[in-house]
Amino acid sequence: MTLSVLCLWVERMDYEAAEAFFRMAFAVCSQGVWLIPISGFRSYQTQNLLFQVQIQRRGSPAAAALISAPPGHSEHHTGYALDIGDGHRADTDTMESFAHTAASAWLHEHGHEYSFEESFPPHNPLGVENKPWHWRFTGPPKAEAIFAWAHPLEAAAHAKAPG
Ligand SMILES: [Zn+2]
Repeated sequence: MTLSVLCLWVERMDYEAAEAFFRMAFAVCSQGVWLIPISGFRSYQTQNLLFQVQIQRRGSPAAAALISAPPGHSEHHTGYALDIGDGHRADTDTMESFAHTAASAWLHEHGHEYSFEESFPPHNPLGVENKPWHWRFTGPPKAEAIFAWAHPLEAAAHAKAPG
């Protein structure tokens, strides 16, 4: 598969971020580790659906925001963040158990070499639950400003519960 075909998987990802991801994925696949892009760019509508599902599950916007950002406040809107899976361990996709996969171990050791960092590590300052599968691209100087507004918990304080 060519890079351009693979980039279609992460439609509307920032090109630089998508390219960095695939350079990383190609580099490590020769070692038998598969980094799989699960979810890249998300629209406001898609994020809203995910957020409403979490409100149903957890009972309130504040509780939902601990695991899923309110629409308008997700790093997935930026095109600079994506959820990564381990191709050998689909059972750990977007699960805490992803933290124990070979893909996760490799990302923690080498992700920074490709300007990727885990957005919500354990005990992160934002107070969001640990999401070991969610990584963001910090390559461009503007990245810090891009992520500065993605504060899910503050946004949840203003979010409305459904119906
Ligand atoms: Zn994510």
